[in-house]
Amino acid sequence: MRKLSFDGSPILYLVATPIGNLEDISYRAIRILKEVKRIYCEDTRTSGVLLKHYDIKTPCESYHNFNEENKSEAIINYILEGNDVALISDAGLPIISDPGFKLVDLAIKNNISVTTIPGASAGISAFVSSNMPLPFLFYGFLKPKYSERKRELTDLKYEKASIIFYEAPHRIKEMLEALLEVFGDREIVLARELTKRFEEYLRGKISAILPICDTLKGEMVVICHGYIEEALTADRFTLIDEQISLGLKANQAIKEVANMLKLDKKELYKEYVEYKNNK
Ligand code: SAM
Repeated sequence: MRKLSFDGSPILYLVATPIGNLEDISYRAIRILKEVKRIYCEDTRTSGVLLKHYDIKTPCESYHNFNEENKSEAIINYILEGNDVALISDAGLPIISDPGFKLVDLAIKNNISVTTIPGASAGISAFVSSNMPLPFLFYGFLKPKYSERKRELTDLKYEKASIIFYEAPHRIKEMLEALLEVFGDREIVLARELTKRFEEYLRGKISAILPICDTLKGEMVVICHGYIEEALTADRFTLIDEQISLGLKANQAIKEVANMLKLDKKELYKEYVEYKNNK
């Protein structure tokens, strides 16, 4: 097992860049970006601003969602020829809701050393100031289509960890509506424009933030409180009814709730039938 290249063999560096404020980059990141043979970035114009600011003259090529499949192999070949390269994204850490997975996968398969140069990332930065409890689950973007998004949220509904979501400003309203519909009225923190001039944290119930979210501009992270344990044990029949209303058959819903609450499925089934008959 090879971890870092102490033997001079080439390295793939995954370098964090600022999420707004250009000062949020490490000395080491700047040095690495100057020393590698090539930088791969999502958008050469966007990264060009950062590279110019720090007088980084390393050649820069595009690597984004649309050429990730084809370009990864070419990059791997370039590294195997003996060249260190750096991957950056438009902002924050590569891979985190950004391209790079395919490249890292191929690099590992080719026994190339892969290392991260740490730094800013919007989700972690938002979580740190959110005052939401640990642990957290980083989710990133929900799917844009209503039915797919609802299915994703249904799968997450009983997650006890705080959940970090990314969302585009033009979709924030429908996203919060979907959260409210599936999760109920939970506490959230909406962190906006982090590290920039109009940085803002809005804290409160989804229902309190929803009416004003249309007026909010800029980049946003939503941190949602996890499912609360007491609620889990409070009313198992309501949980079953909710699952049924979301489209599950009664026995599937009972199985899911039984798994979730670690109850005996047959017992729960009997109790539920009795409860329904007495209603
Ligand atoms: N790789 C990045 C990272 O490490 O955070 C995330 C890239 S993702 C394509 C872009 C999303 O990150 C935005 O839609 C927004 O949800 C979030 N984001 C990025 N910069 C942000 C900022 N300054 N303030 C709040 N959210 C931000």
